[in-house]
Amino acid sequence: MKLFFKKLNVLLTRRDRQVLIYLLFFSIFISIIETLGVSVIMPFLAVVSDSSLVENNKYYKYVYDFFEFKNNSDFIIFFGFTLILFYILRSVFNMLYIYALVTFAQTRYHLLAFRLFENYMGMPYKKFVNKNSSMLTKSLINEAANVTSLFQSLLQIFTELLVMIFIYSMFLYVNYEITMVITIVIIINTIIIVKTVSKTIKKKGIKRSGLQANYYEVINSSLANFKMIKLQIQDNIILEKFHKATKDYAQVGIITATLKSAPKMIFEAISFSLVISLVIYLVYKYEDDASSHIGLLSIFVLGLYRFMPSVNKILDGYNNIMYQYKALDIVHNDLIYDIEDIGNKKVNFESLIKIKNLSFGYIEGQNILQDINLEINKGDKVAFIGESGSGKSTLIDLLIGLYKPCSGGIFVDDNLLCDSNIKSWRNKVGYIPQSVYLFDGTVAENVVFNRKYDEQKITEVLKKAKLYDFLQEKEGLLTVVGEGGILLSGGQKQRIAIARALYDNPDILVLDEATSALDDETEKEIMSEIYEMSENKTLIIVAHRLSTIERCEKIFRVEKGILKCEK
Ligand code: ATP
Ligand code: MG
Repeated sequence: MKLFFKKLNVLLTRRDRQVLIYLLFFSIFISIIETLGVSVIMPFLAVVSDSSLVENNKYYKYVYDFFEFKNNSDFIIFFGFTLILFYILRSVFNMLYIYALVTFAQTRYHLLAFRLFENYMGMPYKKFVNKNSSMLTKSLINEAANVTSLFQSLLQIFTELLVMIFIYSMFLYVNYEITMVITIVIIINTIIIVKTVSKTIKKKGIKRSGLQANYYEVINSSLANFKMIKLQIQDNIILEKFHKATKDYAQVGIITATLKSAPKMIFEAISFSLVISLVIYLVYKYEDDASSHIGLLSIFVLGLYRFMPSVNKILDGYNNIMYQYKALDIVHNDLIYDIEDIGNKKVNFESLIKIKNLSFGYIEGQNILQDINLEINKGDKVAFIGESGSGKSTLIDLLIGLYKPCSGGIFVDDNLLCDSNIKSWRNKVGYIPQSVYLFDGTVAENVVFNRKYDEQKITEVLKKAKLYDFLQEKEGLLTVVGEGGILLSGGQKQRIAIARALYDNPDILVLDEATSALDDETEKEIMSEIYEMSENKTLIIVAHRLSTIERCEKIFRVEKGILKCEK
């Protein structure tokens, strides 16, 4: 319980807490109105059935004299219209309250999803590569919404609790013996429901989260491997997987929804039983005179009419919280982990990059790179070669500051690269990766990639990447690339990646097998363009084809984690 509120607290900002306090006051106001709603009808009915009350009862008399009524029926008509006005206002206030409640909860959704997204974007790269994107998508879309519904339930419980307390006090005031009987019956039932129904619902909630993850996984993996699926003979295996994932998910939904409605049914049965038992009790005790206690009976009937739904809503809210508990866990965990705390300190690169005794491994104790020492002068053209899996891309990722060395370090003009200056270093690098992912948009948008749009610059870099002429035959800069660049050839995609890297005119250009998908002729053209362009730049290339790197001054071979100088 304490843990629950602690986790919830992490999700709330200071301003959220302030708003919550206003909401609490609002809910007190609403519960008073609700209690009045069930009790004011009584005096009205009383005076209608016995108009002599106007003279005999001091409260009626006071109002009668205050407004100077001429006769009793004027008084009753006035009373009636006041009540109508009250009930209209009650609805209006309730609507406003629901609006405030939902607004609070739904804005939480937007803010939570935003904070989650912000956290994911701030994750260190090493952490990110170990994450499953289906899980992240699920958290952003579903779990954040589930936590929102948990919030809503919590607020609902609070309001209903207040309503219950007010009505319960009224019950106690009217007749405490009957109230005690009602209390015991309700408490016993609540305990039974919490022990059985709520417990099952919580378990289903945990299962729901797992099943939903499956579901996303099947969707993502099959849509991303569509071509492979087309080529497989047994394409029904994937259909079966999807069938099972959705079916299991639906099953959990069915059980939960049914169980969720159980408390309502149980409490409805109890309310009727209680009212009928009360009548039997009155008849038994007062025999013929039972009808004179109809006032007492009606207070309880009306009271229970509002009280029981409150009990039900509280249990409903409680069950929902149990169901969404796993979501709270997930969102809480994803919000508290460390994001990269990187500073804005400038790094200058005037003369030398020096790698000193660098070792690195993805898993502790298993080094992929061992004691690497290396110097790259500004303006050097350097190449890394080596077998597949030898650690070239890893070394490049270290060089461009995505990973931190496990020991040793990288020095730029004698400044050690660390959290405080890594951002500025990453900014200096134009990186062209081994595999390119283009998003579904135009060529221009993919080149600009969240930076400032400059048409002239786009044209310039596309020309350098030897893509401009091809685009002229299509729709120019506005040619659509398709999701993942599916409408382009592998080489065209790589050229967009090259244009993207050149867009910022970086000091250092890093190509990780960036031209491997190109034919010899195009590669030669692009490489010579890149060599020309990078006359004053530092160029770091990973390549398999020797022709790509023949103009490099230094060539290193990565072999079993060790670096050997070849040229
Ligand atoms: P290629 O020429 O095929 O691109 P490479 O030399 O670039 O190969 P790397 O990608 O650096 O090789 O991988 C080096 C080793 O590190 C491989 O054995 C690979 O399995 C492992 N590896 C790469 N990324 C991770 C990761 N995120 N977690 C654990 N191991 C990894
Ligand atoms: Mg590689």
